[in-house]
Amino acid sequence: MDFTFTREEELFRESVREFLGKRLSPVWESIDEKNLIPLDLIMDMGSQGFFAIPVPEEYGGQGGSFTLAAIAAEEVGYHDPSMATAVYTLLNNSWPYILYLYGSEEAKGEILPLVGSGRCFFGIASTEPQGGSDIAGLRVSASLEDGVYRVYGEKIYISGVREALEQLDYGGWLLLARTGRLEDRHRGLTAFAFTAKRGGSIVDGLEYNILDTIGRHGISTGVLNLKGAPIEPKYIVGGEGRGFYIAMEGFNLARILVAAANIGSARWALEEAVKWSRDRRLFEERPIASFQGVSFPLAELAVEIEAARLLVYKAAWTADRIYVRKEPGVKPRDLAFYAAASKMKAVETSFKTYETAMKTFGALSYTKEGKLGRGFLGILSYMVGAEGAQNIMRYIVASELIGREYVR
Ligand SMILES: Cc1cc2nc3c(=O)[nH]c(=O)nc-3n(C[C@H](O)[C@H](O)[C@H](O)COP(=O)(O)OP(=O)(O)OC[C@H]3O[C@@H](n4cnc5c(N)ncnc54)[C@H](O)[C@@H]3O)c2cc1C
Repeated sequence: MDFTFTREEELFRESVREFLGKRLSPVWESIDEKNLIPLDLIMDMGSQGFFAIPVPEEYGGQGGSFTLAAIAAEEVGYHDPSMATAVYTLLNNSWPYILYLYGSEEAKGEILPLVGSGRCFFGIASTEPQGGSDIAGLRVSASLEDGVYRVYGEKIYISGVREALEQLDYGGWLLLARTGRLEDRHRGLTAFAFTAKRGGSIVDGLEYNILDTIGRHGISTGVLNLKGAPIEPKYIVGGEGRGFYIAMEGFNLARILVAAANIGSARWALEEAVKWSRDRRLFEERPIASFQGVSFPLAELAVEIEAARLLVYKAAWTADRIYVRKEPGVKPRDLAFYAAASKMKAVETSFKTYETAMKTFGALSYTKEGKLGRGFLGILSYMVGAEGAQNIMRYIVASELIGREYVR
């Protein structure tokens, strides 16, 4: 048992901190205010190796690990607590990895080097208007017409729509669509690497709009209206009818990084509250930290964050055992508990942290000048559903704990 990062991991952490301290910390509020991550920042993050970290170098990735990806996500969450840049980073690490694992050589060769260099956004398009939790009930359909799949239906609450379709020349999603019958439930779904924009052109048969969200404004959340958008069979990921399983594996990996980013944002909020508790003086010039009603909740949060952080890195370490070190006897299924547990715990810990930090600040936190509100609305996206509802995390943990046959 060793609770330290390796030398390589420490050096990576120092280098990302140095980069983000200079390039992201000074602009995170303006990213939230202007609804935009600057393109030059995305490109420079690409050059610095923030994207496709676990994807092998020969496929255009960084040849790293999930621990390194979690370190990057945590630090980006700390330096942009509104989470926009963190969401951008974590999506472009987890979903490209699924393409690397299960995509055709042609699709991988085309898309992964673009993602790794920052020129292409690659996220997940699963959720539909009738409900995101019931993935087996998804209805967007894809049917083969003259050798090409045509996709019909609506995807909603999709992250990165503006970034993929307006900001960059290349962008797309791992798109889940029904190639079988609705009665087939999860067995009727197929995953596609849907590159909706290539070389500056958006595919035919796709309309989109951006939703007016309450937070994490720097990354867009939008709707994809698919009206016969074409996808060639070479973009199928993992085989026809395997989409559900591919998506579940991808969600496991993405949730580790979501959890890491939440911990980064929570660390920032706690630091802000600690500074404020030292500086704010009341009742004959006493720092408010001298009141146990203020200091004890902060102490509790420090412990909660540390506990959640250990869980997150245990999940990342488990992912590395499976995918990077390929240890015999450890299977993707073994990750389900840790991935769901780390998202469940980290998101609820960051939510509590913001609640307490904002109370510690008092009224100032209810203004934009107080900054904390931007972070609170960012992490709230994960409390209400993004990357899987918190109840679904409980469902997965309960299934692993009690047995899938009992928990339905
Ligand atoms: C900011 C943001 C960005 C997002 N980005 C993406 C994206 O990039 N790609 C994408 O595909 N999706 C994305 N989503 C959607 C997200 O995946 C869904 O919000 C999530 O899957 C939940 O679906 P839903 O919101 O439709 O809620 P529903 O599935 O309708 O659930 C509503 C409520 O019912 C509860 N519930 C549902 N089923 C059960 C059950 N069996 N047991 C107990 N409780 C249950 C849930 O916990 C939830 O509280 C994003 C969401 C947000 C908020």
